[in-house]
Parts: sequence; structure tokens; C-alpha cells
Amino acid sequence: MPKLTGNCLCGQVKFEADGDIIFAGNCHCVDCQQVTGAAYATNIFFNETDVSITGDLSAFEHEVDSGNTLIKKFCPNCGSQMFGYNANRPGVMHLRAGSVNEKEHIKPQFNVYASRKLDFVHLDADIPAFDKMPPAS
Ligand SMILES: [Zn+2]
Ligand SMILES: [Zn+2]
Repeated sequence: MPKLTGNCLCGQVKFEADGDIIFAGNCHCVDCQQVTGAAYATNIFFNETDVSITGDLSAFEHEVDSGNTLIKKFCPNCGSQMFGYNANRPGVMHLRAGSVNEKEHIKPQFNVYASRKLDFVHLDADIPAFDKMPPAS
């Protein structure tokens, strides 16, 4: 897998992800809509040890339906959402497609929370869509 690089809007936060993508998927849940300000989030999951980060980050923690605590990290200067973590999945993190430079390497493998998708969003029929989050594997 080629290295992915990226940065926040102001350039203060930079990252390099050098390793295999665990998986990448689109999430249409309301949390992702609110945090990104977009119709849905495309999240790309990596092992934390494969991602090197420079720059200052702020963090926001919130609890979801499942009882999991999620942590969002963002640039304190420009507000760009950069990284997400799930307290129940230590060692794994996600990046967001919009901050990656090598966008040609981003291939979402599924849609989750399709039940919450906005009407104008058309799902790719070639990849699976789940109404909610599929059971953890
Ligand atoms: Zn920034
Ligand atoms: Zn989501």
C-alpha cells in the first residue's frame, strides 16, 4: 500500500500513514454528519503504530449508543477534524478521506448507518450497505 500523507486546512497538523489500510468505509450516522459538517464521513482505519503525526491537536470525547467512548482529534487552529479513536478498539485509529492527499487510493468498502443517509446521497450498489453498524467482527 502506498504511503498516505495529509494535513489540516491550515497545515499545522500533518500525518503520514505507512501501512495497510485495515478498512475504509462511509459512515452516514448523525455524529459523523455533525462532526464533519458533510453529508457523511469516509473513514480510513489504520493501526496507530502505522501513522505518524506532527502538530498540535485538541480532543473531544463522546459516548455513543453502544456505550463506547469515541475520541475525535482536531486542529485547534483551523478546526479541521483529523483523527478518530474508539476506546474499545485500542491501537486502531481512523483518518478522514478529505484530509488525504493521495485520494486515488481511497476506496470505501461499505456504507454504514445507511438508514440515516441524506436523500440526495446515492449509495454505490457495488459495495455492501448496512442500516446500522454491522456486528463487530
Ligand atoms: Zn489546522
Ligand atoms: Zn459515523
